[in-house]
Amino acid sequence: MAIEHVAIIGAGVAGLTAALALAHRGIASIVIEQAEQLIEVGAGLQLSPNATRILDRLGLLRRLESVWLEPESIRLRSGTRLSTIAEVPLGAFARERWQAPYGVLHRATLQKILLDAVSGQSLCRLVTGQRIDSPSMEALEAICGTKPDVIIGADGVWSVARQRIAGAEPARFSGNVAWRMLLSEQDAPDFIDRDKVTAFLGPSTHLVAYPLRDSGQINLVAIAHGRDPGKGWDHSAGGRTELKHAFRRWHPRVREMIDGVEKPRMWPLYEMPEGAWSNSRDTILIGDAAHAVTPFAAQGAAMAIEDAYELALELAMQDPADAIRAFATKRKPRVKKIRKRGAFNRFVYHVRGPLALGRNLVLAFRPSHAVAEDLDWIYEYRAEYRPEE
Ligand SMILES: Cc1cc2nc3c(=O)[nH]c(=O)nc-3n(C[C@H](O)[C@H](O)[C@H](O)COP(=O)(O)OP(=O)(O)OC[C@H]3O[C@@H](n4cnc5c(N)ncnc54)[C@H](O)[C@@H]3O)c2cc1C
Repeated sequence: MAIEHVAIIGAGVAGLTAALALAHRGIASIVIEQAEQLIEVGAGLQLSPNATRILDRLGLLRRLESVWLEPESIRLRSGTRLSTIAEVPLGAFARERWQAPYGVLHRATLQKILLDAVSGQSLCRLVTGQRIDSPSMEALEAICGTKPDVIIGADGVWSVARQRIAGAEPARFSGNVAWRMLLSEQDAPDFIDRDKVTAFLGPSTHLVAYPLRDSGQINLVAIAHGRDPGKGWDHSAGGRTELKHAFRRWHPRVREMIDGVEKPRMWPLYEMPEGAWSNSRDTILIGDAAHAVTPFAAQGAAMAIEDAYELALELAMQDPADAIRAFATKRKPRVKKIRKRGAFNRFVYHVRGPLALGRNLVLAFRPSHAVAEDLDWIYEYRAEYRPEE
């Protein structure tokens, strides 16, 4: 059975990329989004070559290049001394080694670029201000005006599409929280690199900093153990006391910088245990709805983009049940490996005391090409090529 109509719940990175990838395969879709307007509450986003290769295939690279920054390197630094621990080159090196660029930008910018592309596609329709509470086929048919052949749940960590899938696991709090902060570039202290992604590592904490060329700001993400503030993103009201406490042993210049941020926004970090992604018939979860991961490997959005592209390939070639099965079989091992890498990074980034000293020594003696080699399996990933591309 050729697939003609797809209903996508959620217009985040996963849902919008899926609509676009399906349109590239000649399949029509309706994206149903609860928000009236797509206002991105996040801050910065790192897009690694495995994701940018796909965005290039979808015709978006030129627009991304006009607004993002391609950082020179990822630099690991001590959060207590500010000294450099290790550095992995990016920029031209990334383009050459992984055959695609590494870029950083504001999440709102990526969302706008995806949204513009979706709006320019006659095969895509976006319905906003429409929350799905009960994802029955009848409810979706009423919104779409036709019975969808496939339902894609791209509705994030608190997915309702999951209700259609026996064995789908709910998200659970990871024990970590992130504070997302933005500083204007001119106010940021001079120890913050303007051309790199920097990960400062401290006891049970880390802080990632990189410039956002598209907004003239420095993006800061501070991660530490924390309590679960409850469902929902963007707990702007609370968290400053916890933030100060978590970073109390850090270098005074970092503490001073954090103290100066006007509105740190606290995000609880959720993750998903392995569970079912599909009902093996007509419904499949992608992105955070299927497999939210903590941001220790900076791969959540990249996985959503890979999912969207791979799913469109499968749906274009076979009937829904076979396509969904093939997709899950292919994607699950990769996501599992990424999750493991995130857990490993969490351990390495947050170790304390003598273990931290050992980590610094090991990393200091590793040549940067060896560190880059460790990333090959993530960044070299190529969604399967199909001749019709
Ligand atoms: C601190 C932090 C830093 C990160 N940094 C990076 C990074 O550098 N690189 C990277 O690749 N990833 C990063 N990530 C992960 C990345 O942001 C997510 O994995 C990605 O945005 C998930 O996209 P999604 O489309 O699956 O879900 P979401 O972005 O959550 O989108 C879901 C959409 O569905 C809508 N929706 C939900 N429920 C309903 C409903 N019932 N009816 C209708 N609509 C609904 C929502 O409004 C939303 O628009 C980071 C995450 C965090 C928390």
